[in-house]
Amino acid sequence: MSHPPPWIGDARATLAAAHQADRMPHALLIHEAPGSGGDWLAQWAARLVLCQSATGAPCGACPSCHRVASAQHPDLTVLQPIEDSRQIRIEQVRELSQELSLTAHQGAYKVAIITPADTLNRFAANALLKTLEEPAPRTLLVLVVTQPSRLPATILSRCQRVRVRAPDRKEAVSWLEATRGAGDWDAVLDALGEAPMLAAEVDPKAVVQVGLEVRRTLEEATTGSGDPVATAERWARADLPLRLRCIENWLTERIRAHSGSDGLFTKVGAAPYPAGRTGGLNIGHLFELVDGVRELKSALDSPINRGLALEAILRRFAGARL
Ligand SMILES: [Zn+2]
Repeated sequence: MSHPPPWIGDARATLAAAHQADRMPHALLIHEAPGSGGDWLAQWAARLVLCQSATGAPCGACPSCHRVASAQHPDLTVLQPIEDSRQIRIEQVRELSQELSLTAHQGAYKVAIITPADTLNRFAANALLKTLEEPAPRTLLVLVVTQPSRLPATILSRCQRVRVRAPDRKEAVSWLEATRGAGDWDAVLDALGEAPMLAAEVDPKAVVQVGLEVRRTLEEATTGSGDPVATAERWARADLPLRLRCIENWLTERIRAHSGSDGLFTKVGAAPYPAGRTGGLNIGHLFELVDGVRELKSALDSPINRGLALEAILRRFAGARL
């Protein structure tokens, strides 16, 4: 945490002020742009309430701050989908509720981070609702989501929302340089989209190379040239999640360029597809392709034939008239 992302500064200030005034809500919903630092802020909020320093919490130096940073604090639970599952299940939420009802080991807060919270299945979300309705004193629940609309309204209404937006390119690049050192971060973000937290975890050279190859191949695919079978086979074998991220980014760039604003893109998945074309572009087709890519991304853990699924997507590029 030596280089706090500057674009999260306002959110931190708001939470720090609430904590200082003893008005910390019981439940926070961090709504993040993908890869922009929702988990980072959730961990920061945990340190804020668990820090043992009398002033300047979170100090980053006390035993509590260290334990949170290494995910070993006895009063912090992080709930995620367990291995081989894409969902957070009801048993996990029940265990968490039990844990939260106990007295804090260190006499301060008990904190739970649920991420990504939109993986709570229906039963798990219902079980969580009980905890949200009757929170024990000095409990902090932090839900991290990219698409809040996937959560039941009953949960949303009980959380205080905090927005983490994607930083602009310049800010993202200078943060990446400070965090990871010199590199062609601009090109990395071209490949991945404005997702600096994701970029901070990758090998920049490898990502730039994959990004360029994906770009070139998709441009070929839209003209009907290229070989979707061979490409799909090759991509399914290596770096598929990264390639899907690059494809998704390539598509959203085109949607942005043709919609003339970011406004349209924020509605992806939440509204019926806009009809018709913009500047010769079949925008409905682009949205359908984004959906197809996202579906494949979320099905990667299941025993699907990745090559065939990817081939079907690549073939649809030829009809997109991009
Ligand atoms: Zn501390």
